[in-house]
Amino acid sequence: MLKITLLGTGSPEVNARRASSGYLIEYGDDVILMDCGGGVVDRLVQAGYKPSDITHLFFTHLHSDHMMDYARLLHAAWDEGGQPVKVFGPAPVGEITEKLFGINGVFSTDLIARTENQCSQEVWLARGGALPRPWPSPVVTEIEADFQYSGDHWSLSCCEVEHAQPQLASVAYRLDAGGKSFVYSGDAALSDKFESFAADCDVLLHWCYRQLGDTSMPSVAAMSPDPREIAVLAARCGAKQLLITHLRVQMDSQTEHEKIHQAVNEHFQGQFRIAEDLLTITL
Ligand SMILES: [Zn+2]
Repeated sequence: MLKITLLGTGSPEVNARRASSGYLIEYGDDVILMDCGGGVVDRLVQAGYKPSDITHLFFTHLHSDHMMDYARLLHAAWDEGGQPVKVFGPAPVGEITEKLFGINGVFSTDLIARTENQCSQEVWLARGGALPRPWPSPVVTEIEADFQYSGDHWSLSCCEVEHAQPQLASVAYRLDAGGKSFVYSGDAALSDKFESFAADCDVLLHWCYRQLGDTSMPSVAAMSPDPREIAVLAARCGAKQLLITHLRVQMDSQTEHEKIHQAVNEHFQGQFRIAEDLLTITL
């Protein structure tokens, strides 16, 4: 059974209703997180998981709203005595990790204290740990657009998507397990390549940053499909279910949701939902 939990369905704006990007996939013994924006760790706990449950973390790109809770997740998983998290993402995710948790990193003063201070050592020993206490040691792999990964009876592939190049590399992910498939666009402009990549998926989770029909910002309009364009894409690639995510605050009125449903239903015949934090999908 593939269980998907939407942890963060918002944008960079702080939003009580929506944390920034983060999506959890549980399959067998693996708990896979895609992106880790601000608020995702809280949602993870609200969904009944611990940070140390995460086995794999895949970043689509390194915009802050997709990685603001990265340090918090790794630190909490480490503090719980969890296994090192396997982290994957475009460069420079390795350098960022080193800048956070390396010997001269942002958290070095904290980590020196937690591993060397007598009180911290007592707490660690009382929890069943051993001394000397090691530092966090995530296993980080920088990926290219042709990256593929095989997990325990699941596989993952990626597809380069246009978003914030040349400053940021960006990919979409497809996870296949038990005959089911989940595709997450990351932040992506429309493309034929992505359409083929998402072909016949069971669930297409697509970002939607632009309000229906809004062309007030031409560059944004060119790079960010609106709900109608996403519906056309979902129909063309044969997705069975479509969810739009990464919504902005102004897109969350009841009127706006009704307009979105109406526009999407004109083009897409499968099941459609507007994503909400903590929504789960089981395949
Ligand atoms: Zn982005």
